[in-house]
Amino acid sequence: MNDCEKNTKLFLHLKKWLEKAILDYDMIAEGDRLLIGVSGGADSLALLDLLDSPMIFVPRFSFVVVHIDMGFDPTGLAYQELDQYFREHQYSYVMEKTDIGLLAHSDFNRKNPCFLCSRLRRKRIFEIAQEKGCNKIAFAHHRDDIIETLLINMFYGREISTMMPNQSIFGGVLHIIRPLAYLREELVKKYSRERQFTVIKNACPTSENSRRMYVKKLLNELERENPCIRHNIFKAMNHVKQDYLPTFPKK
Ligand code: SF4
Repeated sequence: MNDCEKNTKLFLHLKKWLEKAILDYDMIAEGDRLLIGVSGGADSLALLDLLDSPMIFVPRFSFVVVHIDMGFDPTGLAYQELDQYFREHQYSYVMEKTDIGLLAHSDFNRKNPCFLCSRLRRKRIFEIAQEKGCNKIAFAHHRDDIIETLLINMFYGREISTMMPNQSIFGGVLHIIRPLAYLREELVKKYSRERQFTVIKNACPTSENSRRMYVKKLLNELERENPCIRHNIFKAMNHVKQDYLPTFPKK
């Protein structure tokens, strides 16, 4: 598909908001080298596709794609399909088979599997970023992920925090950026269908049962009563009234 065929109304809408998020949060500077995390799910394939389109306002950058296989698919078919997709698009990429997902669900790990799983995956991604000379790592977290994380951290972590659109790590050596930060999940998924990506289903046994899924379902339910609920939570993060939050006396 050439770029003209790609220029649908939805593409232009997503592109506009992706570029706005990148500029608002200074995510990309001239000459940056990005490592784009692609799980093979709809969101990450959409991120890769959008970042691989001519930009109007965003400075020039280069990128490498990374996929970490979590070890859930014994057939390896999804891995092969993704490998073929990257090759067909002539991306510079790294694919790695691991047993991180299996380890996170083994007796070795008594904690929440997602904690160990994301920690190990991230560690490997950071290492690959350094090996490949990338100064920024782009993840496909969208607006809904940011909202869900805020609630997960409140419900389970006793804190008010979430994913940052542009986060400096290791004293500024690396940055994690989230160019989809303004985009609604519903539209990202719609774009993935419009572009007919071959999406890899997450074969993790926890994926349908995770805290994130619980919060997502809860928000879906609340949204039936209040269609603006996600938008309102997102906006509330930029409207924190410190003076109206209790501070607890130190013991
Ligand atoms: S849902 Fe599964 S793959 Fe995703 S972070 Fe949790 S354990 Fe890992």
